[in-house]
Amino acid sequence: MSKPDRYAVIGHPVSHSRSPYIHQRFAAQTGQNLTYTTIDALPADFAATARRFFAEGGKGLNVTIPHKEAAFRLADERTPRAQRAGAVNTFALRAGGRILGDNTDGAGLVRDLLNNHRILIAGRRVLLLGAGGAARGALAPLLGLKPSELTIVNRNVLRARELVEQFSDLGHLRAIGYQDLGNDPYDLVINATAASLAGELPALSPGIVNTRSICYDMYYGREDTPFVRWAHQRGCARAIMGLGMLVEQAAESFHLWRGVRPDTASVLSALTAELRS
Ligand code: NDP
Repeated sequence: MSKPDRYAVIGHPVSHSRSPYIHQRFAAQTGQNLTYTTIDALPADFAATARRFFAEGGKGLNVTIPHKEAAFRLADERTPRAQRAGAVNTFALRAGGRILGDNTDGAGLVRDLLNNHRILIAGRRVLLLGAGGAARGALAPLLGLKPSELTIVNRNVLRARELVEQFSDLGHLRAIGYQDLGNDPYDLVINATAASLAGELPALSPGIVNTRSICYDMYYGREDTPFVRWAHQRGCARAIMGLGMLVEQAAESFHLWRGVRPDTASVLSALTAELRS
């Protein structure tokens, strides 16, 4: 058998990542000969580490927190959806050693919301917490589903305003700080902040969630996140963690790298059972 092709996820921190589990299962399911590992790189080392990976024969990388915007700058060429997002979560080696940057986060989020959870977005009020790489990736696909309005709230409100400038041609968007959240309920609240990673809860007003609200945390873990616990305490209709998004965005990356689309449902149920055990 020939040597397996090498793939990895690069981030900081990255040891919690379930991406190796997912891609190894995709590979087994589709008969692809590859390895997939984790690479921990501090922001100062990100570009050199990613370049070295490809120089040493690596075929593709997933890029996670906090490097998605740096990855956008590093890519030699970008897919239209990465260009639109201004953030890259997937690198693929192309002819001549060029690095292609893609963004599969938004497609993964939307597939999870629509296909796995049957959540309706059209005509709904949506609140997006955070203005980092994950929020950037989510905006165009979310606006494509025609919510009645989409509000971005961020600690650093300038970052949220920048996103409004870049995406307002796609729908009704506004940017606010947490102090301006008010108490009007939203139909869907998506947590795209890194707060859950640190076991923290953004400074949310209690009234933004009522019994009809659906709350979605992009972060996932064995335990409910502080945001998911908070949403349940507020009596929300449903609170979901982003495991399905993780599997769906991984499938998009896998398709870009290997040209085959893996079955996500079986991997999602295996991963859910594994996390619960
Ligand atoms: P970034 O570092 O690019 O952005 C972080 C964002 O979180 C910023 O908007 C920052 O605000 C905000 N933030 C950080 N800490 C807090 C806090 N305590 N309270 C309020 N806001 C906070 O990270 P990413 O965008 O790449 O990732 C964000 C999250 O999404 C992570 O938890 C990541 O694991 C998850 N994710 C999950 C995916 C999945 O497939 N399930 C895919 C992609 C991401 P400020 O600008 O003010 O500093």
